[in-house]
Amino acid sequence: MIWIVVLAALIVFAALAFNGRGFLAWIAGVGVWLLGWRLTGIAHPSLFAACVIVALAAAAVLGLPFLRRQLVSRFVMPAFAKVLPRLGDTERIALEAGTVWWDGDLFGGMPDWNKLLAFQPAPLSAKEQAFIDGPVEELCRRLNDWDVYQQRDLPPEIWDFIKRERFLGMIIPEEHGGLGFSAIGHSRVVTRIASRSVTAAVTVMVPNSLGPGELLLHYGTDEQKQKYLGRLARGEEIPCFALTGPEAGSDAAATQSEGIVEKRVIDGVEVLGLRLNWKKRYITLAPVATLIGLAFRLKDPNRLIGDKTDRGITCALIPRSTPGVEIGLRHDPMGVPFQNGPIVGKDVFVPLDDAIIGGRAQIGRGWRMLMESLAAGRSISLPALSIGASQLCTRICGAYATVREQFDTPIGRFEGIEEPLARIAGLTYLMTATRDLTCGALDAGEKPAVIGNIAKAYLTDSMRQVVADAMDIRAGSAIQRGPRNALARAWDAVPIGITVEGANILTRSMIVYGQGAIRCHPFVQKEIDAVAKDDLAAFDRAIFGHANLFVTRAVRAKLLAWTGSRLAATPRAEDTRRYYQHLSRFSAAFAILSDTAMGVLGGSLKRREKISGRLADALAYLYLASCALKRYHDEAKTRPNHALARWSVELCLYRIQEALLGVLDNLPVRWIGTLMKLAIFPLGARFRPPSDRLGAEVARDILEDRDARRTLTADVFVPPANEPGLGALEAALDKAVRAIPIETKLRDAVRAGTLDRAPGYMLDDLGVAAGVISGAEYDTLNEARDARDEVIAVDAFEPDVYRTLH
Ligand SMILES: Cc1cc2nc3c(=O)[nH]c(=O)nc-3n(C[C@H](O)[C@H](O)[C@H](O)COP(=O)(O)OP(=O)(O)OC[C@H]3O[C@@H](n4cnc5c(N)ncnc54)[C@H](O)[C@@H]3O)c2cc1C
Repeated sequence: MIWIVVLAALIVFAALAFNGRGFLAWIAGVGVWLLGWRLTGIAHPSLFAACVIVALAAAAVLGLPFLRRQLVSRFVMPAFAKVLPRLGDTERIALEAGTVWWDGDLFGGMPDWNKLLAFQPAPLSAKEQAFIDGPVEELCRRLNDWDVYQQRDLPPEIWDFIKRERFLGMIIPEEHGGLGFSAIGHSRVVTRIASRSVTAAVTVMVPNSLGPGELLLHYGTDEQKQKYLGRLARGEEIPCFALTGPEAGSDAAATQSEGIVEKRVIDGVEVLGLRLNWKKRYITLAPVATLIGLAFRLKDPNRLIGDKTDRGITCALIPRSTPGVEIGLRHDPMGVPFQNGPIVGKDVFVPLDDAIIGGRAQIGRGWRMLMESLAAGRSISLPALSIGASQLCTRICGAYATVREQFDTPIGRFEGIEEPLARIAGLTYLMTATRDLTCGALDAGEKPAVIGNIAKAYLTDSMRQVVADAMDIRAGSAIQRGPRNALARAWDAVPIGITVEGANILTRSMIVYGQGAIRCHPFVQKEIDAVAKDDLAAFDRAIFGHANLFVTRAVRAKLLAWTGSRLAATPRAEDTRRYYQHLSRFSAAFAILSDTAMGVLGGSLKRREKISGRLADALAYLYLASCALKRYHDEAKTRPNHALARWSVELCLYRIQEALLGVLDNLPVRWIGTLMKLAIFPLGARFRPPSDRLGAEVARDILEDRDARRTLTADVFVPPANEPGLGALEAALDKAVRAIPIETKLRDAVRAGTLDRAPGYMLDDLGVAAGVISGAEYDTLNEARDARDEVIAVDAFEPDVYRTLH
């Protein structure tokens, strides 16, 4: 009998806690237990009464805030303050930038899938579509990336075209003369150009990302906007943004560039200005820039503008022609010839009010400006470059693995090739899905900083995998550089994507989870703020909310783990419902593991980057999987799309599992790790990477299903058939596909003994002579073979020409 009572109490508690009702769950659970105890006569009336009094007292202490504050929170708060991570100002600003969106749901452990599926990303506007079909197509048609490499710059007519068509003003509103594009419009433009030329894509990308244009738009004074935005939109000013210096790379806030406030008399007039000294490097577009956005530390040793001498990081605009600016040298970033170089400023004097972006009101607010801009910007530029390269690889490899034969078989039929092909296609699907949802969020007014960091780091990293796989598939023909080989140029650019806008190791191991833990967690920020302000009431609300959340998520994670995620609610009529359930389970598991890691490691979690890096992986793949499911929900339910969605989500589930297990295995307090493992993975590690069969399905789709391949690579610019490289490859693929049934006829004849075994052309001759194939079929075969010979050919150069190559 006693067990029935206990079980009933547990069921009530678990049911309520599972649905996020923590405090109610405790009260109801204890209430049912006491009642059952009494009704079944197990408890003596006086014992029952004593228990009720104790339970009521406990409920009163925990449920009545004024009692709880005095009896519990007052003592917890000082202990809590000791374990909080110590954050510097710049760190705090970086962590606080941007908004929280779907990442908040994933972090909270109970994602509302219906909310995600109801979200409608804005489609491309008619104007954006017309721009992609018009000027973007034309730019891609005119670009010859091999020539760009040899000339070490875009040709002057391409520069003119880019400026004239206002590619440099995509983010500048129409009223200032720009194109006023949405995030998705901007991203799709950069993606398509990147599939043609990384040099051109970076050139277009930089003025549209963090830099003078964006900073002026958000923080500039009216005069500054009037003066510069139109000129920037029309390409009359070429901007660059100089943050990085030799001493300040990842730790950009450590900049030693400085501007001293001082007065000078110029033409008989006293001018309050800044004397700037700086050394910057790696600055994209610097060699050709006319307007330099500069981040520096502003100092006012003579207190000319206030009481403080060190006013903090500030952003200013410096015209190239200002005396003391040394600019024009070029770096050589992996041989990719976009403009990139150092800038030095020696005693550069500029009027203070004109130069500082936003005027005096924005002195010392530079770091906040940069972090806020990057919160949105990281979702666009590098992800777009990565998707351009990955879609190009998908397009090239899908065709090449059909056209290229070895051992008398198209190489795509070998299982060994299927594996990387599936990775290329699956990751490209996942990356594009992430781009679409993330840009949708930006266009809806969000600035999701954690998601932006995830998109930057995990999409560039996926691109590295995709490009490496593509190189392996094309093998020798990927290695021999020349006009035919676009892959080699994509390969050159991989480390650039990994490094810029926050190098990936730093972003993964420190920023994604560090920022997530503070921004996305429903209570941590409130706790930190309450401790900082010594606000006991706010601390009490936050800490008990947190405890409540932990209990409910722990129950949820455990119940979902034990039931194979089956208890999780899913959106209706989805053929991917099990994936939603597994992600709900992992979201709850992530929530309690994250709390546990914070509890066990306290402030030292900041330094335990291997732990926080794995937590970042779990959060990132929760997000990426959400994007894949959302994409599949919104798109045509074709079989190839279904296979790609399954492949993507299964990869993410596996990676989430590995990340969580990695944290559990490495928690310094071993018994907590073991207990948590029992709760989160009671049946062990059950998730596997996508199966061979699923991989084969995905790979076959990009080899054999032309529509599937086209849909997956919709952003790629496809050159005309007479152009070596992708153009010729596409044409060869058409011919190869027409030849496949004829080749099958010949093979069947060999198998049946009607024809002798013979290699390639000789078998065709034998086949037509023996009447196995017709003359027209023979011609089709020949055409296909000629086209194949053309696309498997690689470039070779006269020694004199070779010496001049880049
Ligand atoms: C081609 C190119 C273009 C660029 N364009 C611009 C530009 O236009 N404007 C501009 O201002 N800058 C630009 N940059 C600079 C770029 O943003 C920096 O290179 C980048 O921030 C990293 O700095 P770093 O190269 O000095 O590496 P470092 O800071 O020296 O880092 C070295 C390694 O240590 C890791 N690391 C550092 N700190 C941590 C940590 N706390 N935890 C874990 N790992 C850590 C990093 O991830 C990296 O792997 C560009 C760079 C390149 C290569």
